Amino acid sequence: MLNPLRICYGYYLKKINPEYARKQKSQYINNKKLVLEMLGGAKCVNCGCDVFEFLEVNHKNGGGYKEQKETKCNNVVNRVIYKHRKIDDLEVTCHVCNHLHYLIRKNPKQAKGFKIFWTKIETT
Ligand SMILES: [Zn+2]
Repeated sequence: MLNPLRICYGYYLKKINPEYARKQKSQYINNKKLVLEMLGGAKCVNCGCDVFEFLEVNHKNGGGYKEQKETKCNNVVNRVIYKHRKIDDLEVTCHVCNHLHYLIRKNPKQAKGFKIFWTKIETT
């Protein structure tokens, strides 16, 4: 369940202190780049997608939501950066493959029907 206080805080921060909000976002992006490199590079291990905005840190054995609840922190990137967790159970996936990973863990027989292909599109 989404935490309404967090949503309100993000909204509040952008409205009240947009410069600070921008700095926080910039810091998060830098930290995410570092963590993706620590995990082998900014590329999905399943489909090869390398669009930074689509990439996520995936918990190989599941349990990401449980970890969020236990640590009361929804930011695995910062937990890695500040050495609050190890990285051997993490990998880089795109958002789509991260969800497929979830479906495979929940219903492996049905989810095996999905195949994800990613093709780089030149946008110049
Ligand atoms: Zn992928």
